[in-house]
Amino acid sequence: MLTVEGLNAWYGQAQALFDVSLSVGEGQLIVIQGLNGAGKSTLLQSLIGIGPRAQGRITWQNQPIQTWPAHRRARAGLGFVAEDRRLFTGLSVKENLWIAAASGSNAQATPAQRFERVMSLFPQLQTMLHRPASQMSGGEQQMLALARTLMIGPRLLLLDEPCEGIAPVLVAAMRDALLQLAREGVAMLVAEQNNILARHAQRVLVLTSGRMDGAA
Ligand code: ATP
Repeated sequence: MLTVEGLNAWYGQAQALFDVSLSVGEGQLIVIQGLNGAGKSTLLQSLIGIGPRAQGRITWQNQPIQTWPAHRRARAGLGFVAEDRRLFTGLSVKENLWIAAASGSNAQATPAQRFERVMSLFPQLQTMLHRPASQMSGGEQQMLALARTLMIGPRLLLLDEPCEGIAPVLVAAMRDALLQLAREGVAMLVAEQNNILARHAQRVLVLTSGRMDGAA
């Protein structure tokens, strides 16, 4: 489904990724671990097309996409949730979700069906539909960021530390929602340091100073 071969990335002269290769199969949950600064965020950003200068081959559903801009990758079914969430904080929960629906991908479901689906995955959000995102807790914002990405109908989710720094009760809700999505066939590539999803993953890959240890 997604293959990455020989990916290198640079911030100016400083190389952040060295010859990284990996693959994510249909419906697989793959976790990337590594210390702070190992290159996890750079890798995910390179895959969605918002990273620094990069070279290498990225293939998505048999098409080379490394030259595609981010919006084209998103429309093709790649969904990304950044560590810093990037919500429209002045807008309500509902507005954040519907803005995303407008840029929906080639998914089968209608925006209204996706909205219903997202509400059933995150009932917590249903009780705060009219609240500005700025008045939500960090964990609630993290849920909204994931929910917003789901409104686009992704086939592969690229998630940067989805369970980091949020209240334990919301960690459990987030984990359960992600595992439910995985059971439904949504593939995931997740950067995490806290082992919440790693124990459920088909593979755990380790990045060390920009290099992938072990097999892809
Ligand atoms: P963390 O968990 O702390 O986010 P990470 O594994 O995601 O770490 P990256 O953020 O991808 O690691 O960083 C990889 C390397 O690239 C680090 O050496 C970091 O200092 C460097 N780096 C990241 N972002 C930038 C940037 N905008 N400009 C220059 N260097 C950067």
